[in-house]
Amino acid sequence: MKPAPFAYAKARSLDHAIELLAGADARVLAGGQSLIATLNMRLSQPSLLVDINHVAGLDRIAVTNGTVELGALVRHAQAERSAEIAGHAPLIALAMPHVGHPAIRNRGTIGGSIAFADPAAELPACVLALGGEIEIAGSGGRRWVRTDDFFKGLFETALTAGDVLSAIRVPAATADTRVGFAEFARRHGDYAMAGLAACARAEGKGLKDVRLAFFGVGATPVRARRAEAALTAGDLDLAVAALANDLNPPDDVQATGAVKKHLAGVLLRRVAAQLKEPRQ
Ligand SMILES: Cc1cc2nc3c(=O)[nH]c(=O)nc-3n(C[C@H](O)[C@H](O)[C@H](O)COP(=O)(O)OP(=O)(O)OC[C@H]3O[C@@H](n4cnc5c(N)ncnc54)[C@H](O)[C@@H]3O)c2cc1C
Repeated sequence: MKPAPFAYAKARSLDHAIELLAGADARVLAGGQSLIATLNMRLSQPSLLVDINHVAGLDRIAVTNGTVELGALVRHAQAERSAEIAGHAPLIALAMPHVGHPAIRNRGTIGGSIAFADPAAELPACVLALGGEIEIAGSGGRRWVRTDDFFKGLFETALTAGDVLSAIRVPAATADTRVGFAEFARRHGDYAMAGLAACARAEGKGLKDVRLAFFGVGATPVRARRAEAALTAGDLDLAVAALANDLNPPDDVQATGAVKKHLAGVLLRRVAAQLKEPRQ
């Protein structure tokens, strides 16, 4: 199918993008990898696309004051190849090769993935596991929103009409940071049937500050808080059992909820083993 007619505007700056978005039934155009498909299928019929690809500075990766900040326009491929990400945000580095295929990663952006908030996407779960923050720029100025408060529902976030997601930031890894990532997809590069992004800190032979963010098992990425507590207490079997209460995955075209719940337990055992290993 072809999209419904729409106007196009190229934003010169973030402020210009916000100005263009105001008052119109407009959408931000970033990598276009999800937006263009939804337009072509007429799932969305905005009257205006505001292209942010030429806004200077939105593609920066910066490591400062114990945080890693990624501009919204950092491409998946750029993050995948970044020495800063590999060194200071290793969970994102682990996840990147699972996001679609190389052609998609060349155009798709970090901001687009998080703004789109597909419940089976890898990056939203990673930023949630890392306890990251999302910067939102709108007509009222800029604000940072914790990821725990950002993902509201199915394809629904704290972004409101006229907002631009301008950056994300996550705590930079330290020597005691432990991360783990695993997913089940029917083919490599497909959206996951179920996946898990995890972060913790080593304490002696155990773990503390465990954060488990499952994806593909609900309307948003889901923290498994009872399993986090059990893993912190060093009881993996109890953590796996706790998923029965932490997760309530609906059936979807990929798998039944029961299968997803089973897969979540398998993922947790794999990721728990990764969390024991110091980073290379
Ligand atoms: C075949 C295929 C397979 C894929 N597989 C995966 C996968 O396995 N895992 C995965 O995570 N993703 C996958 N994707 C999606 C891919 O990661 C996209 O890049 C991503 O979902 C959207 O990023 P984008 O920059 O292309 O955003 P766009 O398509 O440009 O925009 C997507 C939505 O977000 C909004 N938006 C974009 N940027 C901003 C911003 N800065 N501020 C406010 N709103 C914004 C747009 O208005 C639009 O509503 C796949 C895509 C395809 C086509």
